[in-house]
Amino acid sequence: MLKNIKRKIFPDRQEETAKLEAQKLRGLVRSIMTARPDEIGCEECYEALDRFVEMKLAGKDAAEAMPLVQDHLERCYGCKEEFEALLVALYALA
Ligand SMILES: [Zn+2]
Repeated sequence: MLKNIKRKIFPDRQEETAKLEAQKLRGLVRSIMTARPDEIGCEECYEALDRFVEMKLAGKDAAEAMPLVQDHLERCYGCKEEFEALLVALYALA
């Protein structure tokens, strides 16, 4: 009942949230399906992220230099968002 009322008041927001959830879920499923034994976790990814972004900005092949970070970004929606935000921020500053 409450859900229906909320949906009437915030139709767009509901949809956005649903989309986001679906995306997260897809990322999760993909990460389970394609898990590698040598993959890194979010924490390691986060620690390496600024170096990764710096390489990208310098025009170097970050994906080849740091394949595990690249790999993690492909499978983890949260880290990918963070990476993209960082990239946009640094481009704006440059
Ligand atoms: Zn992650």
